Amino acid sequence: MSYSGSCHCGTVAFTVDADLPNEATSCNCSHCRRKGFLLTFVPIEALDVESGEENLIAYTFNKHEIEHLFCEECGCQPFGVGIGPNGEELAAINLRCVPEADLDLLTVLKVDGASL
Ligand SMILES: [Zn+2]
Repeated sequence: MSYSGSCHCGTVAFTVDADLPNEATSCNCSHCRRKGFLLTFVPIEALDVESGEENLIAYTFNKHEIEHLFCEECGCQPFGVGIGPNGEELAAINLRCVPEADLDLLTVLKVDGASL
């Protein structure tokens, strides 16, 4: 199965070749807490950006290892890309940008990013 999402204005649209997860990661770091992400992580190959790739702007901070990509038009950040702990390139999908994800049914896994 796969699922689809977009930024608010619809410029950036994407599909993820994976089942919708029933868990999401919520992190309390200085960046995540401000944006309120509910994230799921997939191999970069599973992310298919169908439109708007040229409209994405990368924000980086700290070690600048993760590209936090946001739409230049509406500012939504539907996903980010970076290197996972195993050295593989990952995409962090913001489930808040996936309309078919029922956010109230997700088991939220809290990550203490603020202390890392
Ligand atoms: Zn947008």
